[in-house]
Amino acid sequence: MTDLDYLRAAIAEAQAAEANGEVPVGAVVVHENKIIGRGQNRVLRDSDPTAHAEIVALREAGLALKNYRLEDCTLYATLEPCAMCAGAILHARITRLVYGAPDPKAGACGSVLSVLNHPQLNHKLDLLPGLLAGECGALLTNFFRKRRLEKSSARILGIEGIGTEAPTREAPMTTRKPKKKWSAKVTTDSTDPDEGLFNQSASAIAKALASKKVSPKGPASGMRMLNFYINRAGKNLSASRHAELEKAKSKLSDIIATQKPKTQTAVNKTQKKTTKKLAKKTAAKLHSKKSSAQ
Ligand SMILES: [Zn+2]
Repeated sequence: MTDLDYLRAAIAEAQAAEANGEVPVGAVVVHENKIIGRGQNRVLRDSDPTAHAEIVALREAGLALKNYRLEDCTLYATLEPCAMCAGAILHARITRLVYGAPDPKAGACGSVLSVLNHPQLNHKLDLLPGLLAGECGALLTNFFRKRRLEKSSARILGIEGIGTEAPTREAPMTTRKPKKKWSAKVTTDSTDPDEGLFNQSASAIAKALASKKVSPKGPASGMRMLNFYINRAGKNLSASRHAELEKAKSKLSDIIATQKPKTQTAVNKTQKKTTKKLAKKTAAKLHSKKSSAQ
């Protein structure tokens, strides 16, 4: 068997990982021309952040050799190992590492970090990077492309929970998040504005909440919404955001205060009108009484 054959065995592990909903990464450990450890990425299935394909394969190989030192062993991986896996490779004293695709986001064999063959570390190993790089990389790019498609169709269909966040060894999705509407879930006589509003400056928040567009029934309902938001967001708010929202509250109450006198005068006017009317009526009554008495 050749390097290519062993790396294909690692690719088969990666495909098995994908079939189980995991990011497709696979690895095998070879000793004396025999595969003594196989591993596939299983972080999701095992809820284990250390369950990278390489680690899983190293563990199996250690059990096979009944030794934590895996001397005279070659590790084949479909993706450039990360810092954790590179560290484990060093601890295992792996003699040779063959891998497929480089990992520009987390690779620790030269792409991002150079953990292996570090001048200050004793253990040195043979490195063969980039074997079947295209094929190994395509496994990942196809996987992430499919997931993006699933995500966007789920969004169109309004289905949640499909293609939700998964740990990746690749760049995070760059698709834009739709603007989230915030909902007070109570009647505040206000429209629920975009959640982003509450991330703005205190004066912008106060101004928006006082506007007819957000609070058609007046700024007081905007104040109720602000209070609901602060209570709901609660602990999730940073101290600075909390302070900004409190500032928004006092700015909004200032706006409410400047608007009050107007309504107060309006009330006074109507009151005065009714008093005048009443006075007129009583005067008229008195007058008619007087004339009937005559
Ligand atoms: Zn890793």
